[in-house]
Amino acid sequence: MSDILWARWTIVPTAAPEPQLHCRHCGTVRNFASSGKFRLNSNGKKLDAWLIYKCVVCSDTWNRPLLERHPVGVLDPAFLDALQRNDLDLADRIAFDVAGLRRRAQRVEEFGGVRVTKTALAPLPANPGAIVIELSVPAAPGLRLDRLLAQETGFARSRIRALLKEGALRVEPEGVRAMRKPVRDGTRVVISGVWIDRSCIAD
Ligand SMILES: [Zn+2]
Repeated sequence: MSDILWARWTIVPTAAPEPQLHCRHCGTVRNFASSGKFRLNSNGKKLDAWLIYKCVVCSDTWNRPLLERHPVGVLDPAFLDALQRNDLDLADRIAFDVAGLRRRAQRVEEFGGVRVTKTALAPLPANPGAIVIELSVPAAPGLRLDRLLAQETGFARSRIRALLKEGALRVEPEGVRAMRKPVRDGTRVVISGVWIDRSCIAD
């Protein structure tokens, strides 16, 4: 086991997904981008909250519902405070939550750009015989696994296909099918018997 390189790749999209909605002002479907600002409306003890999006062409707004007549008393005070001061981390976390966005908008454009942070999970062996890469994907970036591997290992996609065929590259737990799908949290990629560049392990 000692000649195995263990690494974790944490994959984070670099651009938030954008809903594609009919813009009243432009009179056509446009992308809307998060403004990073919230709108709140309290009505007695109930609170409505939205994240404000803007048409990328004319800046007309669309409010993404976050809370609908939610009892203020049961809200986490830190969350309420973050809403009230337009906390950018919170706005980003919501803007990158593509699953939540899809519940509010039928059409969503995702951008493939990702930032990959590589961490060695064990001391690097002198002559690695295999590499095990665990994928950590906190927010789904909509990037296909085969593209990610080509981009980050420097292997051509034809080489990756050949390695898969030989069994030198394995994907767990989903197997080969995972290659054409967006990267998923918890996927493990095992590459053995090929020369491994250290850039696969650490930045
Ligand atoms: Zn517009």
